Amino acid sequence: MKSISEKISHLSLKNKMIAIIMATVVPVLMIIFFVLIISASLSFNRGIKTKLKTLGEIVANTSLAALEFDDRVAAEETLDALKAETNLTRACIYLSQEGIFAKYPQNRPDEHFPKNPEFRERFEGSLQYLTFFHPFKYGYDKRGMIYLHYNLKELHHEILNFAIDALGILSLSIVIAYVFSTRLQSYFVKPIMNIVHAAKIIGEQKDYSVRVKKINDDELGVLIDGFNEMLGQVSDRDRALRNVNRELEEHKISLEQKVEERTKQLQHAKDEAEAANIAKSEFLANMSHELRTPLHAILSFSSFGITKIGSVDQEKLLNYFNKIKISGNNLLVLVNDILDLSKLESTSVDLDLSEVNLNRLVSYIIDEFQSLISEQRITIQFNECSSLPKVVLDSVKISQVVRNLLSNAVKFSDPGSNIRVELLKIDSQVQLAVVDTGLGIPEDELTEVFDKFIQSSKTKTGAGGTGLGLAICRQIITLHGGRIWAENNSGKGAIFRFDIPIDQV
Ligand code: ADP
Repeated sequence: MKSISEKISHLSLKNKMIAIIMATVVPVLMIIFFVLIISASLSFNRGIKTKLKTLGEIVANTSLAALEFDDRVAAEETLDALKAETNLTRACIYLSQEGIFAKYPQNRPDEHFPKNPEFRERFEGSLQYLTFFHPFKYGYDKRGMIYLHYNLKELHHEILNFAIDALGILSLSIVIAYVFSTRLQSYFVKPIMNIVHAAKIIGEQKDYSVRVKKINDDELGVLIDGFNEMLGQVSDRDRALRNVNRELEEHKISLEQKVEERTKQLQHAKDEAEAANIAKSEFLANMSHELRTPLHAILSFSSFGITKIGSVDQEKLLNYFNKIKISGNNLLVLVNDILDLSKLESTSVDLDLSEVNLNRLVSYIIDEFQSLISEQRITIQFNECSSLPKVVLDSVKISQVVRNLLSNAVKFSDPGSNIRVELLKIDSQVQLAVVDTGLGIPEDELTEVFDKFIQSSKTKTGAGGTGLGLAICRQIITLHGGRIWAENNSGKGAIFRFDIPIDQV
């Protein structure tokens, strides 16, 4: 069983309001009702007593003559007039010394009347009757008492009727109070219900644009104004929060992208660093090997010479010295190449640029090779480019490239073969090609031969060389803003080409 306070706490606000109003009004009406009933009863009671007193006085006055003459019949006739008052059931006149002098109705036995008159009224038969005694005088010394026995049935009836009427009014008042309370509560409850409704929408839909309609200009109106203002602030803050969230999200995405990009860069740098490290190790291994070979030859032939200086003939000694000289030269070439390459790879290398007639420069270099190629019966054919303007370049370094390409072509060509050198102008570039009919380069090694200490699998055994020449060439051409590459000649042999911008800075 739920307690009343529990039941009330579960009521809607509207019903609570009605319950409060009714709980206030009904007890008040009930109190008024009971006060009215009591007041009416007392009033009726007073009326009856006044009436009985008046009757007593009338009887006393009209019976005086009968008493004077001791005329019982006349006194009883006087009393008989009381039958007009239907509620008066019994009456009698007591005389002080004689007792009952006259009675009404006459046929009532004396036992039905009190033996001795009392000086106060009292109720009898469970408030059914009221007995009333009214004193009177006649002459100067005799005293008597009028006794009146009054039936209160009519009074009760009147009080009951009054109570029924009052109850009707009470019920009507309660109904009116209920109707008014249901109507009036809306002035109080409706604004609150509007706030509750708005709060529900906000809670469920997170829609802060909802506003509560102001109905009255009272405290609830002020509350609604405050609520709406608060909603406005919450809405602004919600919007600001969403903006911040969106910005944060965008920021996060951009940060993630940056982190991803940076990670890629770092990974790339790491890969490059690892590759550089591997290249460095390979370079050092290759260089040690390349340095050790001529040094080894120099040391062995000089040891031979020292140990055999007295026992071998001059010719053999000369042979030893020649080999020491050749190995020394090879060593010198290697050291020079390494120095050249390291200079070119350093960031601070400067090109000594000038406008050069490339046709003339190439022709001059070819001339340098004449004694070497004539020994091997090799011919060099030079196809000049008549339309070629002067080219801005570092003539010393470009000469080094041309010499290296020509010397390779001669080195890997068969005696009696022909080498073709071509200069071409292609758009804003000048291209130089050295075409030979020698050993050629395996297709998958065309790029690799430009790496340091790399020799093609076709020439590894025998031809000699440091494997640094093409690496130096690539570095020089790159510094000139151009590119260098190798192709295989469709017939036989290799083609080495490079191009550089004519107006390169
Ligand atoms: P080197 O000639 O001193 O060995 P290079 O860097 O100049 O060093 O050349 C690298 C390698 O490329 C050579 O050893 C050779 O295997 C190959 N090569 C260069 N030029 C030619 C060519 N014209 N024909 C065939 N192979 C060549």
